[in-house]
Amino acid sequence: MDEFELIRRFFSRPADSASVVTGVGDDGAVLKPSADRELVTVIDTMVAGTHFPATMSAGDVGYRIVAVNLSDIAAMGAEPRWMTLALTLAESDPAWLAAFAEGLYEAAAEWGVALVGGDTTKGEQLVVSVQMSGELTPGTALYRSGAKVGDTIYVTGTVGDAAAGLKLMAKGSGEHPLARRFARPMARVRAGSALAGIAHAAIDLSDGFVADLSKLLEASGVGAQVDLQTLPLSRDLLDAVGRDEALQYAMNGGDDYELCFTMPEPRLPETIAAEATAIGRITAESGLVCRDGDTVVPIDDTGYRHF
Ligand code: ADP
Ligand code: MG
Repeated sequence: MDEFELIRRFFSRPADSASVVTGVGDDGAVLKPSADRELVTVIDTMVAGTHFPATMSAGDVGYRIVAVNLSDIAAMGAEPRWMTLALTLAESDPAWLAAFAEGLYEAAAEWGVALVGGDTTKGEQLVVSVQMSGELTPGTALYRSGAKVGDTIYVTGTVGDAAAGLKLMAKGSGEHPLARRFARPMARVRAGSALAGIAHAAIDLSDGFVADLSKLLEASGVGAQVDLQTLPLSRDLLDAVGRDEALQYAMNGGDDYELCFTMPEPRLPETIAAEATAIGRITAESGLVCRDGDTVVPIDDTGYRHF
């Protein structure tokens, strides 16, 4: 199968969007952004064996590369619109490609994102990269740098699940609900756009709660006090590893793709109140202090890293 045939067979579904003037097939895509909106653009790359287990199913690889980009778009408060795909393949296996495309289009369809182009190359190992663009109302983007002293800090969903799930995948339990959280993260797109123009600061949790909140604090020039007893832990995680280990995964594990954001408490939009938990407060003294009851838990910044 040559490159042309591969693109035609797997990556040429028509874009169901008036915003795509020309999609896959020409030298470039021609897009029609909405009038008077700002564009947000992100990119994320996953290398087999480094960012996901080489044994992960093709459908999950396709879903996940879209989901992690959706999460960056969500963390900016934008609405996802278009994406391009760069694919480096060691071999072109039609069954693998069909399943990969299925997972990729499934994640894209959940948020109405159009695949409008890409690049396909041969290489020594599987590398997938998606670039995604979204739109927002000018001036409403969420930055890491906007946190203010006195803000409440929130996280969506539960944390620690994906890192525990990754361990389970390595032991062959790829179907465990925690492993599914690693393979198919749920990007918080709705929460992100509900927070645009409202939250003071936001970041998505890809490297781990402590690591990512620390980036937000640094960018904002503030500190934080976190009450670890309020960190949202799933029943699945607690049942699988117990409270102490669950807390370690929640603090230092990555790949959850939840949002962490800050704002004055009364401004929390009602539409996302059910998916967000208050876990601490922004302080004037720099640094992150995590308390478990009366105990200050040391910050482990050697934890989880993506490269
Ligand atoms: P060029 O040589 O001009 O870069 P290509 O032959 O690489 O063009 O690609 C042909 C068309 O197919 C382009 O529109 C490109 O965006 C698209 N394309 C290539 N690879 C992919 C892919 N993996 N997914 C989606 N579209 C792709
Ligand atoms: Mg060209």
